[in-house]
Amino acid sequence: DVRPLVAGNWKMNGTRDSLDQIKAIAQGVMVPLSEKVETLICPPATLLYVSTALATDSPLAIGGQDCHQARSGAHTGDISADMIADCFGTYVIVGHSERRIDHAETDQMIRAKAQAAYQAGLTAIVCVGETGEERDAYQTLDILKRQLFGSLPEEATAENTVIAYEPVWAIGTGLTPTAKDVEIVHAFIRDELILRFADEGKGMRILYGGSVKPGNARELLAVDNVDGALIGGASLKATDFLAIYGTY
Ligand code: 13P
Repeated sequence: DVRPLVAGNWKMNGTRDSLDQIKAIAQGVMVPLSEKVETLICPPATLLYVSTALATDSPLAIGGQDCHQARSGAHTGDISADMIADCFGTYVIVGHSERRIDHAETDQMIRAKAQAAYQAGLTAIVCVGETGEERDAYQTLDILKRQLFGSLPEEATAENTVIAYEPVWAIGTGLTPTAKDVEIVHAFIRDELILRFADEGKGMRILYGGSVKPGNARELLAVDNVDGALIGGASLKATDFLAIYGTY
């Protein structure tokens, strides 16, 4: 059976003061961390190295929020997957909708980033999701099919890849799809993964992301084929993050 993953994406939030939150999560202050459900925080790159040091000897994993597709070179301002691994990070998010939109990232670039992650020994969390406009035009499944096909490398396995379904209209809005809608979309993603990756596709974790809060986590995480959550705003506070974790 797959081990669920509860992951936090801090986005462009967090300074040295925020390290107390990493410490509190790693220590499982309210809710002890168990090996049954994996935990991950992706802080900004500036806090990566010190975060992994704080999480040593705890089950909490630390990851990056993006990486460049090249291993090194003349790419001012970017960081490579190898740099994340060098800081003892074990995961990297690629293809978040904020990267797709703010930095015009294409499926092809995201696929190359996932490959860079594999080369560095990281697990890639590949994000997909439709915009509100696409949803209103009933294009959700078409968009997801295209994003999955384009963003996932041939070498993706259950070990090196996690999918995050994040409807763009649900991110930071307090809106979420109904449990039924999440069920339909995750079942569709599962079918696509199995079609392309056979048994590996069965084991790939599919996270739900978009306005996951302590109050709605239990319902969303109980849906079939939801193997965890990717949490933005509610991951910034250890108490919220652990409350979501505690719904497992
Ligand atoms: P929110 O949980 O703040 O809606 O963000 C979700 C997200 O984009 C996580 O990657």
